[in-house]
Order: sequence, then structure tokens, then C-alpha cells
Amino acid sequence: MLVTPSAHPVLADLMAQITARPDRYALFSDFDGTLVEIAERPEEVMVPADLATNLGRVRTMLGGALGIITGRPLRQVAEYIGAAGLEASGLHGIEFNFPLTAGGSPAALEAPRELIAEVVKIVAAEPGFRLENKGAILTVHFRQVPAAGGRLRAALEEVIDRLNLDHHLKDGRAVIEIIPNGTSKGTALAEFMRRTPYAGRIPVMMGDDKADEDAFAVAQASGGFGLKVAGEHFRAGDEPFRHAGEVRDFIAALAAHSR
Ligand SMILES: [Mg+2]
Repeated sequence: MLVTPSAHPVLADLMAQITARPDRYALFSDFDGTLVEIAERPEEVMVPADLATNLGRVRTMLGGALGIITGRPLRQVAEYIGAAGLEASGLHGIEFNFPLTAGGSPAALEAPRELIAEVVKIVAAEPGFRLENKGAILTVHFRQVPAAGGRLRAALEEVIDRLNLDHHLKDGRAVIEIIPNGTSKGTALAEFMRRTPYAGRIPVMMGDDKADEDAFAVAQASGGFGLKVAGEHFRAGDEPFRHAGEVRDFIAALAAHSR
């Protein structure tokens, strides 16, 4: 087994279970901070060359039951790991790269123009803020000015209240996202679980951030569980993964079993 001797006991156990009965498990993963390390800017992430290949092998081993659940637009994730032919949900449950079943989420929309205009003003007032317009979701990055996070949050909250929008804020690692109400990584996971080959399997979701907790909760409600990656959100300690490199090691070890 390729799992390193330092791997968390939960992972060694899960590895044994999955390799024995791959038809029983559905594996889900976040992208940033989970499969790749968080970068200063999202376009600067380093994606190891073998990641897509290994994910593709694990997907085959699981009979197709491997899904990516990310806050990014899907076209970006496709650039990095699209070669694996993976099924994925982007924009916190708004986008899917497969046809939705009944009860699925609506197609992606643009953010309201008055919201964009107000957020552009807030971002322009602080040189360290940066706006990423993902379409339905607006993401403001403040990694360059960490101390300004509280002020940013208050300003965005004020705008949502004042414009009376059907949106909410989601805090992430040095980002705040403005997301339409009604979808989350949890609704994304639920949508996967209504589909073949995921339905009826034990869902296991890997993630590093607050938004992933919604998916952990839905996985738990379906008889599965979440695997946390330590970092800025989950404190290093007893988490199964200490960093994204260990997630990739786990994927590589599973991939090695598939041959
Ligand atoms: Mg993440």
C-alpha cells in the first residue's frame, strides 16, 4: 500500500474498505486547498501533472462515482483536471457538467447589476481587495490585507441588506463570496447522490473550508462522512489530512490499487 506510514488511521481504514468494495463508495472532493494548495491568486494554483491521471483512475475504480464539488466556475476546473473526464459541480452547487435530475439547481445566472456596481465600489476603496466575478457568484479576495476582512464583510453585508437581495455571504480562506440563496456544496452533493452511479453508495467528501461543511453534513445524513484537510479553516491536530499534498497521496495510493 502506498499510503505513507504517517497517514491518519482513518485513511488507512478507508483505503482498505474502498479497495475491498469500491462499488460501495462515492468519493467527492473540493478543489482549492484540498486537491491543490491555495495560491495567492486562484489562477496561480500549481496542479501536479499526475493529478488528473490519478483522479481518472480512481473514478474508473469506483465505477464512475467520483465527483468534484467546488466554488470555482467549472470551466476553470476543467482546465486543470478536465482530462480526467470527471463529473463536477461548480459555483457552490449552481453549475453541473451533467444534466440535472428533477429537484436539481437552476442554471447559472449573472449577479444583479446593482450588486456588481456596489461591490466594485467597495473593492476600489481598498487596493488589497480583488473582485473575481464568477457570474452568479461574486468573490472578493483579501489575502493581501488580512486585517481588512472584518471591514469587508460588514460593507458587503450592508449592501445585501440595503439592496434587499436574495443572497448570502460565505466566508472562505481569505475570501468572502456573495452567493444566491438556495444552493451550496451540500445541495450539490445531494444532487450527485440522486444520480447513478452515486445513489445508494456511502458518500465521502474531502474538503478544507467552511463551505465544505455543508457537503459534510449532507454526506453524514446519507450514511457517509467528511474528511477534513487542515489549514486556515480546520486547525491542524486530529484532521485526517494535514495538507493538500496528503490528499493527493491518498488519491495516488487509491489509483495504484486500480491497476
Ligand atoms: Mg477549498
